[in-house]
Order: sequence, then C-alpha cells, then structure tokens
Amino acid sequence: METIEGSCHCGTVKVSVPIDAAGVVVCHCGDCQKLHGNAFAMLAVERAALRVGGEAEVRWYDSSAKARRAFCGRCGSRLFKDPHGSPKVLVSVGLFDRHLPRRVIKHVMPETAPDWYAPPVDGSP
Ligand SMILES: [Zn+2]
Ligand SMILES: [Zn+2]
Repeated sequence: METIEGSCHCGTVKVSVPIDAAGVVVCHCGDCQKLHGNAFAMLAVERAALRVGGEAEVRWYDSSAKARRAFCGRCGSRLFKDPHGSPKVLVSVGLFDRHLPRRVIKHVMPETAPDWYAPPVDGSP
C-alpha cells in the first residue's frame, strides 16, 4: 500500500498513513482553536492503518470526555485527535509535506470559528 510520510517539527515523531486516507477536514471548534492555536486541519485515518514512530515522545491529553489528543513531548507539535470509540484517528495535516495529494473536503463547526475568520457556512470546501 502506498503511504504518505510525515513528522513533527523536531523529527522525533514520525507518522505514516495510507495515501487513500480521506481528504482534509478543518475543524473550527473551541477545543481545536485553543489546542492548535487555530483551526485544526486533519486527515481521518483508519486506526489500524496509522503507523507511528518515536512513540516514546508522544504525549496524550484528555481534551474532553469524548476524545484525547497528542503532541510531541519534545517540540510540542500537535499530532492526533483520538475520539473514543471511533475507528478513525485524526492526524494533523501539518505533519506532512505541503504538496499533499489531498484537498480540503469539509469544514466542521464553522459556526464557532473566530469572527476574524469566515469559513464557508455550509461546511463545503
Ligand atoms: Zn517533535
Ligand atoms: Zn475541533
């Protein structure tokens, strides 16, 4: 299976996801804004298909009753959102090369975006 390789800023945590992972989803919820410093752009990846290297530096944080999130303990790069009970893990798209063969397919919770940014109200790209 062809994969896309990514890493955190310091290079300690490496990730590999299938090239056919779903397109980029952008979340505008309050948790993402606080935790990512902005909207969170992510790829939804089947849990079993995600490969992670440097796992010793992956730090988990229970961001709500519904999900936990991960960051690199060395450089602080945001890595994952892991919704409890979901077959998919959301992988930060910023870990990958800027020439990703994927595009934004959806905006989530555009109604809670900060008022300095105006995402499409219908959630479309
Ligand atoms: Zn790092
Ligand atoms: Zn969010």
